[in-house]
Amino acid sequence: MALIVHKYGGTSMGSTERIGNVAKRVGKWARAGHQMVVVPSAMSGETNRLLALAKELAPARHSDAYGRELDMLASTGEQASSALLAIALQAEGLESVSYAGWQIPIKTTSAYTKARIESIDDTRVRTDLAAGKVVIVTGFQGVDAGGNVTTLGRGGSDTSAVAVAAALKAAECLIYTDVDGVYTTDPRVVAEARRLHTVSFEEMLEMASLGSKVLQIRSVEFAGKYKVPLRVLSSFTPWDIDLAEEARSGTLITFEEDEHMEQAIVSGIAFNRDEAKISVLGVPDTPGIAYQILGGIADANIDVDVIIQNVSKEGKTDFSFTVNRADYARAMDILKERVLPSLGALELTGDPKICKVSIVGIGMRSHVGVASKMFRCLSEEGINIQMISTSEIKTSVVIDEKYMELAVRALHKAFDLEQQAA
Ligand code: ASP
Ligand code: MG
Repeated sequence: MALIVHKYGGTSMGSTERIGNVAKRVGKWARAGHQMVVVPSAMSGETNRLLALAKELAPARHSDAYGRELDMLASTGEQASSALLAIALQAEGLESVSYAGWQIPIKTTSAYTKARIESIDDTRVRTDLAAGKVVIVTGFQGVDAGGNVTTLGRGGSDTSAVAVAAALKAAECLIYTDVDGVYTTDPRVVAEARRLHTVSFEEMLEMASLGSKVLQIRSVEFAGKYKVPLRVLSSFTPWDIDLAEEARSGTLITFEEDEHMEQAIVSGIAFNRDEAKISVLGVPDTPGIAYQILGGIADANIDVDVIIQNVSKEGKTDFSFTVNRADYARAMDILKERVLPSLGALELTGDPKICKVSIVGIGMRSHVGVASKMFRCLSEEGINIQMISTSEIKTSVVIDEKYMELAVRALHKAFDLEQQAA
């Protein structure tokens, strides 16, 4: 008998009928003798609906006062779904109690709409579990040192669930969602994509950061830091499916490399459409140039991803980097107005229609020739590589957005991802 955390996404909580099914599933686990803590998201569409109401009254603003009220507002979605689930569990004949973040408390920083969890007090939950109750803890929210309600950023319930599991030293945190696991790539792009039975935490972190939106990236970081065994599985199986079968389904995110049974060199192909490329041409090749260019961008809170500086010719060099597409116009403005005049650069060019495609796998640590195989595959498809970046377990290329699907399909095939034994 173990202490288990379940997390249910908005789709699973999307109607009273579905909440009833969640209660039946949780009831099955509780009756099998497990101590159950459940972290639900808001009912699907609810967070968007609430935030849209705020926007109707006043356009989005970056002020603390506005952010505070957005969190006050958006957090109600999870409060409602949590109470409904507790009611549904009681209707199933189980003792159950729900708590908002501040009641636990889940203490966070004060950064409204993107707060970070600092600590979780497990006292209340442990007392209730010992009394045989199923405990529901709201996802997505917490409370800051001043007693203000905060939220953790969109998709933040994943992080809540993992953090609660870490605080309680749960045996496993199961994330029930509308996909049945982590795939070798997005099945909407490659029909032959295959579900991975296990994936290492480091690979998952790379895939999440590269745009596989299965889990909020911070939840994966948290799971890695506190070694929380994490499983992503489908909430669409019938609730009365055999418990042992359910407990083995989906994708387990592992920490120990020898647990990683699938000995593939490349585990998955990730991609990200939302990038844009910026090049500053003809900048003097002197110390402090990268800092001058990127410092201004960082000051504006814009994340920079791939960065390339060319070899210099006649004391001048070219400097290219990518940013999120949503930040592209702002980054170009900052460079034009503030950076270029003082830099004496010759030219600024940009391309918002690029994407990044990456191969990810811990096997890349111990195998050579993996990147060159990727480059050969792309060249055979006639796809031009504009930028390359690598880490120990991934190689990424920046290419024209219009070749993204072709590249992902070709790489999926070249690395035999559809054929490995599952
Ligand atoms: N309800 C929040 C959102 O829609 C948090 C979550 O679902 O994880 O982003
Ligand atoms: Mg989610």
